[in-house]
Amino acid sequence: MTKTDTAVPPNFISHIIEEDIKSNKHGGKVATRFPPEPNGYLHIGHAKSICLNFGLAIEYNGTCNLRFDDTNPAKEEVEYVESIKEDVRWLGFDWDDRLFYASDYFDQLCDYAVQLIKDHKAYVCSLSADEIREYRGTLTEAGRDSPYRTRSVEENLDLFQRMQAGEFADGSHVLRAKIDMAAPNMVMRDPTLFRIRKVPHHRTGDKWCIYPMYDFTHGLSDSIEDITHSLCTLEFENNRELYDWVLNTLNVDCHPQQIEFARLNLSYTVLSKRRLIQLVDEGHVSGWDDPRMPTLSGLRRRGYTPEAIRGFCERIGVARRNSVVDMALLEYIIREDLNKRVARVMAVLHPLRVVIVNYPEEQTEELEAINNPEDPAMGTRSLPFSRVLYIEQEDFREDPPKKFFRLAPGREVRLRYAYFIKCVDVIKNEQTGEIVELHCTYDPETQGGSAPDGRKVKATLHWVSADHAISAQIRLYDNLFTVPNPTEAKDGLDFKDYVNTNSLETLRDCRLEPTLAGAAPGSRYQFERVGYFCVDTVDSTAESLVFNRTVTLRDTWAKILKAQQQQKKRPKQR
Ligand code: ATP
Ligand code: MG
Repeated sequence: MTKTDTAVPPNFISHIIEEDIKSNKHGGKVATRFPPEPNGYLHIGHAKSICLNFGLAIEYNGTCNLRFDDTNPAKEEVEYVESIKEDVRWLGFDWDDRLFYASDYFDQLCDYAVQLIKDHKAYVCSLSADEIREYRGTLTEAGRDSPYRTRSVEENLDLFQRMQAGEFADGSHVLRAKIDMAAPNMVMRDPTLFRIRKVPHHRTGDKWCIYPMYDFTHGLSDSIEDITHSLCTLEFENNRELYDWVLNTLNVDCHPQQIEFARLNLSYTVLSKRRLIQLVDEGHVSGWDDPRMPTLSGLRRRGYTPEAIRGFCERIGVARRNSVVDMALLEYIIREDLNKRVARVMAVLHPLRVVIVNYPEEQTEELEAINNPEDPAMGTRSLPFSRVLYIEQEDFREDPPKKFFRLAPGREVRLRYAYFIKCVDVIKNEQTGEIVELHCTYDPETQGGSAPDGRKVKATLHWVSADHAISAQIRLYDNLFTVPNPTEAKDGLDFKDYVNTNSLETLRDCRLEPTLAGAAPGSRYQFERVGYFCVDTVDSTAESLVFNRTVTLRDTWAKILKAQQQQKKRPKQR
């Protein structure tokens, strides 16, 4: 990927990096890493981190590693590792041969732990988890020293060795850093470095029954990999002191700089693997790749492009202030992207039969349609037109309200790329009163969409020829949650209480123009006047097509921007 594909607009991190390059810190080198824990699928928040880490490496001719932070065997799986690799690649980034696993460093981490013990900087503590919590104190109260804090180096070495050998039960001992139980930063009150976990690991199998903690592992992994700038989200700000303590105390050669930035929050969804996994496990969605999920696999299946997601990350920028980005912005960006690149086709979601009573019964003609008015290079295609058509039910009103300009009894409208038609009769089911078909006449003089006598119509409708149309299932998606901030649930409610139970609507017999026959899974279209759609990659087959709606054509972002601007202009009222 080139620099222009991954522009990282100048931000406070790039400023730090530029200063470091100038002062030749780290020998002028830039090395970043993206360090996911393989305990779930990546979401769009991770995309922000990926674009930032890989983007900075590209920008400054550096490198970016992909490193799995796989220190918690109980929650991690190979499936997640594979999905993460696929998603990073799909986003358009390449780690070349720099794929690493924290689990590959476990031996080295043990050696470092032994060094800390020998330097009187770590000890084996035999308090229970509850006792450790109790001894830790609070934000306003200092903690108390563990009674095991004064164990001798020999005893600590012996116990740590036997912890590794599997002699003790889970939770009976931990290895802790010996720092300061009265430290104002709670993270520094003798944090745990290693714990016993007799759980097989997805890569190391049964080799280990102790596992290193995140804070110990992360900085040392960065150091082992010669990382220069270790970017993480703001919730790790307090951990920076420990990050630096570990590297300083062990006096390692490479001491990267930890820099925190604000995580991405998006309205009407949740961005946390811990929460997303609940939606999957409890069946609120069909899986991690459900097109309603904010996961990269869900967005991909929904029809999002990697370019749009990278564009979104570029647009939201990087700062140190937490905020919630409006879902409408993401939708605006995918709309802009697809508008330029996908073909427009005609599809009728709720078909209403229209018989053109003055059109010859056996006749079919081919009409020329433009594939994308935004891009003449995409050419044209031909569409069959015949006596029986389908239009959208909502494009007809028997009793049109004032501002309804579409088809109504006695009214004339244009059929896109075809003719003017006029409604002359409404046929109803005698029992139910339901409209079953419309009878219309067409004006053969209006082919191509205009009348030689200059008369105008106020609406242009999409349509398909009934005999030629193909049938498809179409899935319409709405926000996964009914409120913008589901994680701020109140009144004893949980974020899952705000799951939108109407977020999926399945339309089973939609009618599509025949050029869509056999459309390949993953291919994207604009259905004229309806929205952007993508052939489902899981359930669609050549015989029975399934489309997902990526996004509607309605631009709510423009409205939001306008409202914000008006807000600014309006003088403050006192
Ligand atoms: P989650 O809460 O979703 O599990 P995490 O931070 O625990 O997220 P990791 O796998 O540890 O997930 O994340 C890998 C990297 O992605 C980390 O550097 C993390 O800071 C970053 N990251 C995770 N979520 C976001 C987000 N919403 N916005 C920006 N960066 C994020
Ligand atoms: Mg995490």
